[in-house]
Amino acid sequence: MNVDLSRRSFLKLTGAGIAATSLGAMGFGEAEAAEAAHVRPFKLTMTTETRNTCPYCSVACGIIIYSKGDIRKGEAADIIHIEGDVDHPTNRGTLCPKGAALKDFVKSPSRLKYPMQRKPGSDKFERISWNDAFDRIARLMKDDRDANLITHNQSGVPVNRWTTVGMLAASATTNETAWATFKFAKGLGIVGFDNQARV
Ligand code: SF4
Repeated sequence: MNVDLSRRSFLKLTGAGIAATSLGAMGFGEAEAAEAAHVRPFKLTMTTETRNTCPYCSVACGIIIYSKGDIRKGEAADIIHIEGDVDHPTNRGTLCPKGAALKDFVKSPSRLKYPMQRKPGSDKFERISWNDAFDRIARLMKDDRDANLITHNQSGVPVNRWTTVGMLAASATTNETAWATFKFAKGLGIVGFDNQARV
């Protein structure tokens, strides 16, 4: 058979062939592919969008967390999807593989969700309340600072150095929060201060 095929028609035909072959290779028949394309836009309908920052590294990419369930009505909110925030100046919607897998991080059975304490002499961690955790941290910090603060150097110059406690802060944060965190540490005289970007 003699087929009259222009260059443009040939390209259209081969392009359609490649798309069909690719969908077939992924296990999509024509009907399934059409159904997936139809359902996709509705996946996030009726969800709550919450903007946040990826907690993994110092790039601090912006993310949007999509959850179902209205906690103001007493419903349990459940995160169903996390993606990059297209309006964020750092990543403009993109995420690296770690950030793209954030939902698994949030839902991991081994994720730490509340303060834990291993008491002196114990071989296991026990859950404690946030108030107990804050009280204990404040008590230990106050006692240690009172006992070890170096107020003056050998020449009598005021230095207010607290060298027996270190602080490790998160780097995935805004400039403003980082500024406040730095002021908090240096206001107390903490010398050993670092964040996860260098760890
Ligand atoms: S998405 Fe990747 S690059 Fe961005 S903050 Fe998270 S871990 Fe870092």
